[in-house]
Amino acid sequence: MSAREKIAYIKGLLDAGKPKEGFDMTLYGAIVDALDAVVDQVEDQEECLAELVDEMMDLVEYCEAIGEELGALDEDWEDQDYYEEDDLMPVEEDGQMDLYESILCPFCSTMFYYRPDLFKEDDLINCPNCKRTFAPSEVELEEE
Ligand SMILES: [Zn+2]
Repeated sequence: MSAREKIAYIKGLLDAGKPKEGFDMTLYGAIVDALDAVVDQVEDQEECLAELVDEMMDLVEYCEAIGEELGALDEDWEDQDYYEEDDLMPVEEDGQMDLYESILCPFCSTMFYYRPDLFKEDDLINCPNCKRTFAPSEVELEEE
């Protein structure tokens, strides 16, 4: 018997031998009401639970589908050999360092690196230490 059936049975018994007096009547009525409320709540929760389980199963299927798609993508990726070494090799350090030259700030004597190829003849350079500007060409001339 489900909880609801048991309560229906109790109600039947109560109807058969219904208390006549006020207090007993109130007490039995309250007990039946409380049992009804409990069964309602349990049934609501069972429904919620069933819905949640449904949603969870949907999610599980969704995740599995995504997993399969990812697996397929991964295989495509590997098949097409995107990982060509040349593309991913970093620029050789020596080649990169050749672009930089050391320079001495005429104001604060801080030595720092800059890229001469980015400066034209009369461009001014910013000292990272004292923030003053000067022309790299002047400094280079003074050094020589
Ligand atoms: Zn400086």
